[in-house]
Amino acid sequence: MITERDGAGGGAADGGSSEPEDSGGEEAQVIVVGAGPAGSAAALHLARAGVDVLLLEKGGFPREKVCGDGLTPRSVHQLVRMGIDVGAPGWVRNKGMRWVCDGNEVELDWPRLGSLPDFGLTRTRHDFDDLLAAHARAAGARLRTGVKVTGPMTDGAGRVTGVTAVHGPGGEPVVHRAPLVIAADGASARTALALGLERDAGRPVAAAARRYYRSEARTHDPYLELWADLRCPGTGRDLPGYGWVFPLGDGRVNVGLGALPQQRRSRPVDLRQTMELWLARTPEKWGLREENAESPLRSAPLPMGLNRRPQYRRGLLLVGDSAGMVSPWSGEGIAQALEAGELAAETIALALARPAGPRREYALQQYPVELLRRWGRYYRLGNVAGDLLFSRYGFRPVLHPRVMASPRLLRALARLLIHVADEPSQDGLDAVLHTLMRLVPRPRR
Ligand SMILES: Cc1cc2nc3c(=O)[nH]c(=O)nc-3n(C[C@H](O)[C@H](O)[C@H](O)COP(=O)(O)OP(=O)(O)OC[C@H]3O[C@@H](n4cnc5c(N)ncnc54)[C@H](O)[C@@H]3O)c2cc1C
Repeated sequence: MITERDGAGGGAADGGSSEPEDSGGEEAQVIVVGAGPAGSAAALHLARAGVDVLLLEKGGFPREKVCGDGLTPRSVHQLVRMGIDVGAPGWVRNKGMRWVCDGNEVELDWPRLGSLPDFGLTRTRHDFDDLLAAHARAAGARLRTGVKVTGPMTDGAGRVTGVTAVHGPGGEPVVHRAPLVIAADGASARTALALGLERDAGRPVAAAARRYYRSEARTHDPYLELWADLRCPGTGRDLPGYGWVFPLGDGRVNVGLGALPQQRRSRPVDLRQTMELWLARTPEKWGLREENAESPLRSAPLPMGLNRRPQYRRGLLLVGDSAGMVSPWSGEGIAQALEAGELAAETIALALARPAGPRREYALQQYPVELLRRWGRYYRLGNVAGDLLFSRYGFRPVLHPRVMASPRLLRALARLLIHVADEPSQDGLDAVLHTLMRLVPRPRR
């Protein structure tokens, strides 16, 4: 519930460093920390709006990021808004999700909505992040790789004035100045933490792991496949999450699994063992065996449910995983990162059109307000579903044979899982989902 440290006042008390000596760094109107999907989207939209933006990334491109590489229509929508040609070579389209449970399987095509594309995509993060960062740069953002931000800088009032960083082979210190900073540094959320923005311990952080396999049998699957009946070795209980096999169209598949933290007194899930047990059940001809593995199994946290608030404070805006924006319904985080990046950019562009001072500050404070308006109820319901259902029983109850046999319920499930519905409603399902959301009490800021 409490997401900020008490006594959020001056910079030193909050962990932000006060003004150091000049180091020959750069100045900008906005600094974005991290060039993952959230940071590149924010930088691109800011640059397009004519804002001078400096995008700082600690790594270099191309680079690996542990992910399932699956993009739903929500992500595709955002990519199109960024001007990315999703028809170009390298993008692999999918029609929807295939859920597998207890020997039954069902295909859920992506909904046909007026407001979103009706297809999803896959692309490895190796390419994907590189492409997004290149687009941000082409739009006018100054991208600097190999620059590791060490913390926000603040003035005497605790307001952000830029960042401190290290760069180059010797890790030389550098100071970059800007009156506004966007923290897009992912699950570690170091920039937010340095300003005292703590994670809400009541919201889950799931764990997920993935590995690449060569699989001619599955690489051109037109669906994203998800398994709901994975057993955890040792306990014999259902995995509080799901497994996936996502086609990459180049002879490989991305195979992984994610798990919510289990209930009290349960041992943490051993993702490696659960994966071994699961893959041994998959048909031999799929090739999901050790000899076809193309990478080690790698894992990373999934911060969920809007777990860091407020998403704006004293010149710092949080986007993507740094604000725990991963969906508690599906574990998807890229669409949310891209969308929040755009919203943060739009908020800043509008704020900069006002004179510095209280009027600009008021405009910036609209960022968390708008986030809550768009997502608050959906995340609130998802957090409850996560606590009461998914973390205890996994996804098996949702895929009850009666649900799997009902096309209408399945269509509703698909829309709920990926948070899509036309507004105003175009059909009965949209209307039901909107009504359901309106019944959820509006979350507090
Ligand atoms: C196993 C796994 C599978 C997943 N599968 C999917 C999926 O299929 N579909 C989906 O939508 N989501 C998936 N997710 C979630 C998704 O990966 C994240 O939600 C998404 O990457 C968030 O984007 P981001 O830009 O906020 O953060 P990130 O992608 O983590 O990007 C943060 C960037 O900041 C940089 N950075 C960090 N610290 C600093 C610093 N101090 N200075 C400078 N730069 C810094 C990092 O190098 C990185 O480039 C998965 C996650 C996991 C762990």
